[in-house]
Amino acid sequence: MSTSVSSSVPESLQSFLSAPKKLLIDGQWVAAGSGKTFDVYDPATDQVIAQVAEGESADVDLAVSAARKAFDDGPWSKMTASDRSRLIWKVGELIEEHAVELAQLETLDNGKPFSIAKAADVALAADMFRYMAGWATKIEGNTIPLNVPYAPDQEFHAFTLKEPIGVVGQIIPWNFPLLMAAWKLGPALATGCTIILKPAEQTPLSAIRLGELLQEAGIPDGVVNIITGFGETAGAAIASHEKIDKVAFTGSTEVGKLIINSAAGNLKKVTLELGGKSPNVVYDDADLDLAIAGAADAIFFNQGQVCSAGSRLFIQKGIYDDVVAGVSEIAKNLKVGNGFHESTQMGPLVSREQFQRVTGYLKAGLEAGAEVSAGGASLDRPGYFVQPTVLKNATAEMSVVREEIFGPVVAAMSFENDSEIACRANESAYGLAAGIWTRDISKAHRLAKAVKAGTVWINCYSIFDAALPFGGYKQSGWGREMGHASLENYLQTKSVCIQI
Ligand code: NAD
Repeated sequence: MSTSVSSSVPESLQSFLSAPKKLLIDGQWVAAGSGKTFDVYDPATDQVIAQVAEGESADVDLAVSAARKAFDDGPWSKMTASDRSRLIWKVGELIEEHAVELAQLETLDNGKPFSIAKAADVALAADMFRYMAGWATKIEGNTIPLNVPYAPDQEFHAFTLKEPIGVVGQIIPWNFPLLMAAWKLGPALATGCTIILKPAEQTPLSAIRLGELLQEAGIPDGVVNIITGFGETAGAAIASHEKIDKVAFTGSTEVGKLIINSAAGNLKKVTLELGGKSPNVVYDDADLDLAIAGAADAIFFNQGQVCSAGSRLFIQKGIYDDVVAGVSEIAKNLKVGNGFHESTQMGPLVSREQFQRVTGYLKAGLEAGAEVSAGGASLDRPGYFVQPTVLKNATAEMSVVREEIFGPVVAAMSFENDSEIACRANESAYGLAAGIWTRDISKAHRLAKAVKAGTVWINCYSIFDAALPFGGYKQSGWGREMGHASLENYLQTKSVCIQI
């Protein structure tokens, strides 16, 4: 293997990285049918760290057959909910046991700081499996009293059954690789579905390691199949597959629309978690220290590669200069570097492509008349590093305000009053999240109700919990992840009516 493992790779990962990275189909790790592999890069060094099997349509077919068998014939669909629950719980425990190794893999593959990968990505992933293990035994239908007008003399007993939807394709992005896998697999396993998971081509490593942990936990063969590969080939084959009952996708709104078209062939069910351009509103009566730190964190967390990032910062007029100065000061002082260095607070962007996208937006913003208050450039060193950036005097028609940059770039704008802000906050094709900073609880409630977003954070930002539903209004998606709301995505309701 021609992989040159960079000097920043922890020794503990060397043996995992040097072993061939294959596809998981029906409990076996196998090479892609074509024999092809693709390179995976360390975004902090631009060096190849692994070569991974490039699954394509024929491999997806095999994975679907395995998932169909595990669902239609068992064992998964024949097991008790309690047995399934125990295995799902075990996955959470194994993730926790291997927290350091998994966090190292995330840092290496995605670039994010190790301390954040461990405290957020890995901890939330473990918690997601445990939360969903609890739900497996609590999926229940209802009994329903009937009043049939044309059969007044007959008596009925009617009830609903909640049944797993079947074989599910799950396509995930690169920004929280392990956590996105957990968000998808958790509810699908709890409801009794079987799965073909496709990780993002930029960051497939933690999903492969998770596949090994799923096997160690005792999840039966064929229940979770993992196909690494590219979107246009492996992803598209999943979205259009005739024998897949549902596709769950997280990624860009653009690809989300392609998924809907592909899914139309067999009318498979679709849920989508897509992009965002979330408003973060700071009123002049807010606790400014809290709001400034919160506004910076809302955009710079995970290098700004967060679908719910607070990328449109609306600041009430009287405090505009102070808040811009405060967020800019934080941006200038953030330690940007290799995620394995203890002092690093912000890592590189995930890929060369993403680096070019973000720097392209910076150029477009400046050309359109936005002014740099902090950052504004890339870092002249190997790896895909961009400075945390605050743009001021941005206006609604600029691409940096309208489009999702998915990088550490916030556009600051001022607003005058309460009546104007809801309208401006909603002036977006997206509707994933919103932030509100104020000491006035009535004002906070009013805006929380008016804003068209799936999640609203008041005097906080980026708070995620396995129990709290997350998803989008408008072009930010269909359906909800997490919470018991997510179970519905994987269930069918069957009505049964008996004449007594
Ligand atoms: P992307 O849409 O290009 O890729 C996401 C996934 O889809 C990858 O696995 C990719 O291989 C696959 N894919 C690409 N083309 C495909 C096709 N034609 N058919 C099937 N699958 C295909 O997105 P990205 O650039 O990798 O990720 C960033 C985007 O994801 C951002 O827009 C962000 O907002 C969004 N995102 C949303 C959430 C959320 O929960 N709403 C979470 C993370 C990321």
